[in-house]
Amino acid sequence: RTVYVNGDYLPEDQAKVSVFDRGFVMADGVYEVTSVLGGKLIDFGGHLARLKRSLEALQMRNPLSDDDYLAAHRRLVAENGVTDGMVYLQVTRGNPGDRDFAFPPEDTVPTVVMFTQNKPGLADNPAAKTGWKVITTEDLRWARRDIKTVQLLFPSLAKMEAKSKGADDAWLVEEGKVTEGTSNNAYIVKGGTIITRELSSDILHGITRAAVLRFAREAQMKVEERSFTVAEAQEADEAFITSASAFVMPVVSIDGAAIGDGTVGPVARRLREIYLEESVKAGV
Ligand code: PMP
Repeated sequence: RTVYVNGDYLPEDQAKVSVFDRGFVMADGVYEVTSVLGGKLIDFGGHLARLKRSLEALQMRNPLSDDDYLAAHRRLVAENGVTDGMVYLQVTRGNPGDRDFAFPPEDTVPTVVMFTQNKPGLADNPAAKTGWKVITTEDLRWARRDIKTVQLLFPSLAKMEAKSKGADDAWLVEEGKVTEGTSNNAYIVKGGTIITRELSSDILHGITRAAVLRFAREAQMKVEERSFTVAEAQEADEAFITSASAFVMPVVSIDGAAIGDGTVGPVARRLREIYLEESVKAGV
């Protein structure tokens, strides 16, 4: 596999980043994941826009132009023969000198890394037919979840807790309300209305969320952006999550309680179909 490091395209075992890089010692960096379907980048513009927002929030320089990011994504997809899969993009603050809590000098060049992962048949994930089981757990992340940083230890622990309980993911809960999944936005459907937490610094502003809510409104579905409790979710007709890598994924149980009749619901199924169709059409 060819990977990208600071302008170079290298075999993965020859790519190097300094051990002093603040991404490595301080999780001082941001990232994006863009899905590839049929060789096309899905929602790439949205991911690029959010990358720039994350960089700005951390007062980090944006080292590349939009065209540079797009060209690098396309080159990696082509060189690595990715039909279905993803491109991972990470920008860290770099660091030319000693470890220090204070930022390095203004002219420090950030470290940019990109790589691809192949996921054959990504859009036909069989899990979308049966749905995910989720557990709930207290949301112990920091308070700026709207910045897509590489500090993913808590979501990783929550994912492991879910796996140890035989579930597929965890929904994170703060003050009794669901914030989001470990790596996805959370939704319920009640009486035909799609309910998902409003945007704030409490959650990541999902690119898939934005697209799915737009498609839902265009299809005359009712959308309410507000928080909901675990109990309300367990009594909902349907539940689902969205993310760049899972698209729209139905959720069929929460903490062991079946949602609706415990099978994939019509709203989640329809939104998944619409999202896949429209986002592939708009792919670049
Ligand atoms: N919330 C969190 C915490 C995430 O990590 C992700 C995926 N990166 C999402 C939501 C979904 O965002 P997107 O649709 O842009 O992948």
